[in-house]
Amino acid sequence: MDQALQKRLIEAIATTVIDHADELTNLDQAIGDGDHGLNMMRGFKDVMADADDLATRPLPDALRAIGTKLVMKVGGASGPLYGTLFLTLGKELPAAPSQADATRALAAAIAAVMARGKSEPGQKTMLDVLAPTQAELAAGGDDLLARLKSRAAASAEATVPMRAIRGRASFLGERSIGHMDPGARSSSLMIEAVCDVLGG
Ligand code: ADP
Ligand code: MG
Repeated sequence: MDQALQKRLIEAIATTVIDHADELTNLDQAIGDGDHGLNMMRGFKDVMADADDLATRPLPDALRAIGTKLVMKVGGASGPLYGTLFLTLGKELPAAPSQADATRALAAAIAAVMARGKSEPGQKTMLDVLAPTQAELAAGGDDLLARLKSRAAASAEATVPMRAIRGRASFLGERSIGHMDPGARSSSLMIEAVCDVLGG
């Protein structure tokens, strides 16, 4: 993986999370405790501060370092879960991943998040964006980056009518219906940022 590209990817992910902190907080205010934006911003500011160093490391090392930062800095439910996602991607991806490597590694990372969260897609969480995006990646074919981007965004939208079964929002029962899941939105933001960079 080219160092300049790796730097652009890391910075794009961190920047989009930081820039959307208020939106993520507002979503979490509706069905949680209103800290998702701040939690994520704290973690990704730490990533941003180290972007130069992270860009020079082999991709698997950089991903593991990001995962460790997220575990340590984000907190809440999402910190350990996003930490697990990045740590597993770092464990599973080679230094110069093919599309097939990315497909397999993302599947492994989602499985690790599911194990960690005792959760599965359909419960109004980040998994409701991560899993459909992985399925789209596995399907391959034409215009893949554009399709991944719109699948991620549509999947986040699709959490609005869902009832939360996991996480803090599940305490609201029926009242969790009608709001987008904050973690689904942060996942879609990160996926859209990656697609934008890879698409040039
Ligand atoms: P907390 O809920 O502890 O305040 P955050 O607000 O940072 O943590 O993150 C909330 C998000 O974490 C939710 O919107 C959801 O997407 C995700 N989440 C919470 N619990 C789980 C779980 N068990 N499995 C998958 N994702 C989860
Ligand atoms: Mg919260």
